[in-house]
Amino acid sequence: MPLYEYVCPRCNAEFEKLQPMAQAGAADCPNCEAPANRIVSLMAPAQVAGGSVGGGGCACGGACACG
Ligand SMILES: [Zn+2]
Repeated sequence: MPLYEYVCPRCNAEFEKLQPMAQAGAADCPNCEAPANRIVSLMAPAQVAGGSVGGGGCACGGACACG
């Protein structure tokens, strides 16, 4: 069963909920019981392994605060 992340538009609470895909997108805030919005988190691309980042990429040494 997938784990979904939600954020409450009313009180800004973030929470996670295990639920079947059939019910994805429907969850109530545990704080205020308002209908929460699902956070769509993209899978992290596993393409950053090894090598240096050049060109337009971020070779972050802390300069761009991307982390
Ligand atoms: Zn709430």
